[in-house]
Amino acid sequence: METETRKNVYRIHVRTRLCNGCGDCVTACPINERLRLENNPNEELYTLRVRNGKCEVVNLDACDGCGVCVEACSTRSLKLELVEER
Ligand code: SF4
Ligand code: SF4
Repeated sequence: METETRKNVYRIHVRTRLCNGCGDCVTACPINERLRLENNPNEELYTLRVRNGKCEVVNLDACDGCGVCVEACSTRSLKLELVEER
């Protein structure tokens, strides 16, 4: 019998004009939290980061679309979109 792994694909849009680089989204993301607890130094695995005073999307492979980052952003700079349902 064949098994299939299903995973939705999400995209996050950053309205850079509104973003103040506070980093609340970065620290709120549970994926980032897990990587931090593991002391994982690979920056490319983290979902979001702040560079040059703005939020930047790095890696959404592990993003489960929980929306915590969107909720954490006080300037409403983030928009979460489901791009592919698998
Ligand atoms: S939607 Fe959830 S998992 Fe994806 S980047 Fe935001 S906080 Fe992290
Ligand atoms: S997107 Fe929002 S929470 Fe994230 S750094 Fe910018 S202002 Fe802060």
